[in-house]
Amino acid sequence: MSGLAMPSVNADIMARRAEIVAALREIVPGEGTVDDEIGMRTYESDALTAYRQMPFVVVLPETVEQVAKVLKYCHENGIRVVPRGAGTSLSGGALPLADAVLVSMMRFNRILDIDFDNRTATVQPGVTNLAITQAVSHEGFYYAPDPSSQIACSIGGNIAENSGGVHCLKYGLTTNNVLGLQIVTIEGEVMRFGGKHLDSEGYDWLAFMVGSEGLLGVVTEVTVRILRSPETARAVLVGFPDAEDAGRAVAAIIGAGIIPGGMEMMDRPAIHAAEAFVHAGYPLDVDALLIVELDGPQVEVDHLLQRVEAICREYGCTTCRVSESEEERANFWAGRKAAFPAVGRISPDYMCMDGTIPRRELPRVLKGMAELSEKHGLRVANVFHAGDGNLHPLILFDANQPGELERAEAFGADILKLCVEVGGCLTGEHGVGVEKRDLMPEMFTEDDLKQQQRVKCAFDPQHLLNPGKVFPVLHRCAELGKMHVHHGKLPFPDIPRF
Ligand SMILES: Cc1cc2nc3c(=O)[nH]c(=O)nc-3n(C[C@H](O)[C@H](O)[C@H](O)COP(=O)(O)OP(=O)(O)OC[C@H]3O[C@@H](n4cnc5c(N)ncnc54)[C@H](O)[C@@H]3O)c2cc1C
Repeated sequence: MSGLAMPSVNADIMARRAEIVAALREIVPGEGTVDDEIGMRTYESDALTAYRQMPFVVVLPETVEQVAKVLKYCHENGIRVVPRGAGTSLSGGALPLADAVLVSMMRFNRILDIDFDNRTATVQPGVTNLAITQAVSHEGFYYAPDPSSQIACSIGGNIAENSGGVHCLKYGLTTNNVLGLQIVTIEGEVMRFGGKHLDSEGYDWLAFMVGSEGLLGVVTEVTVRILRSPETARAVLVGFPDAEDAGRAVAAIIGAGIIPGGMEMMDRPAIHAAEAFVHAGYPLDVDALLIVELDGPQVEVDHLLQRVEAICREYGCTTCRVSESEEERANFWAGRKAAFPAVGRISPDYMCMDGTIPRRELPRVLKGMAELSEKHGLRVANVFHAGDGNLHPLILFDANQPGELERAEAFGADILKLCVEVGGCLTGEHGVGVEKRDLMPEMFTEDDLKQQQRVKCAFDPQHLLNPGKVFPVLHRCAELGKMHVHHGKLPFPDIPRF
């Protein structure tokens, strides 16, 4: 793996491979345990394909009992574990380790309960994000967080990464739409946090779990909120000759108290790549394109569209087209949704970054990014959830050219540092994983990081779950004053355990 420091491989575990595989096969028999090279090749990387590592062994459990037994066995034998959903992580969260059991949750693919009265759906973690909406759409409901990868990514992965999407500006990220979880700890204990209700007594354990990147437990069941689909949705396509003016228009729309269902922005290279790919009818003579979608009752949408149009004209837009049909609205979005593959056509490789900034800083950051592009001698195409201030710069490079991957990584690091410098943060929705791990000190002090690790120590004192991700340096829990279980007295005895 190119220069990426990972926890050193445990030679004792490696030497015991045959015995460990046999023990796991007892728990997850047949095709549920994969230990041959060709079978495991599928899992050697996630969507951060710059890094690859063959797993030690892969298990695909089907029941909570199997998950609990696998984790208990690993815990008792000091074996590391990497949980995995669909493997679409862009931050390397599901990257295997040479000595870790990779636990794929994709056989947990059943919808368990749909409760329209309580507006909830309870599903297994391997169910894809889109499948939740598909399961409830016949009654006019949907699940709001919509990562562009929704056709493939699992809801378990969404929980672990606190994933977002176009509609999260108005309806919140995963964390705002999850009501309950069942998890299995590394010790093999099954726990429940939350349920179908809005709040629970005691500490907000659910909030700890969402965004925990597979470091605290394996999610085995998820209850999410489902929403009534809006009466109508219309989108407006707005072109600006100046990207900084587009950034100002975004801030002005939100500042006016308008919360669009989605507000996305693309810069010139992204517009051209998308238009060449899907022919969405995007204007090619502008430096920035905004897609603003308003949803809700018809009269409200019509009124807000006029206000958005007026604001955009005030900030110098030169094109402004409102969708007149569902087909046209879908067409406006088609280019944006295909922006990643479209950029993939114009460069041998690209690296997708993910940082968040305060909206008002958009013009400054766009300018800074253009300067960084010159400094590193690499092109960048920008696609972003403008309303949330969540940037996705796509750094274009050629991995076959010596040194370009390293330059792309340095460029990406500089972009994220810029995001932190203007008051933003290292990630908006893709998580830290291995990608941003070493940048964590840019954002957090040593004390901050130690505090976060104390939470990790409470759940997993031996650092067996997904080590090498999120934290740049793993302190031994003893150094952090780890929780002490005395005479079998469990900490937090009030937490329900099943
Ligand atoms: C083309 C493309 C577009 C994308 N667009 C978006 C987007 O718009 N918004 C966005 O937020 N993300 C996006 N992503 C990133 C990615 O799809 C999300 O991070 C997604 O949530 C990952 O889900 P997954 O099932 O693939 O998880 P994986 O990649 O398999 O794993 C991701 C992390 O979750 C952990 N994990 C997975 N399942 C479990 C479980 N059951 N219990 C505990 N931990 C678990 C893993 O250990 C890992 O740390 C995109 C990715 C691609 C490739």
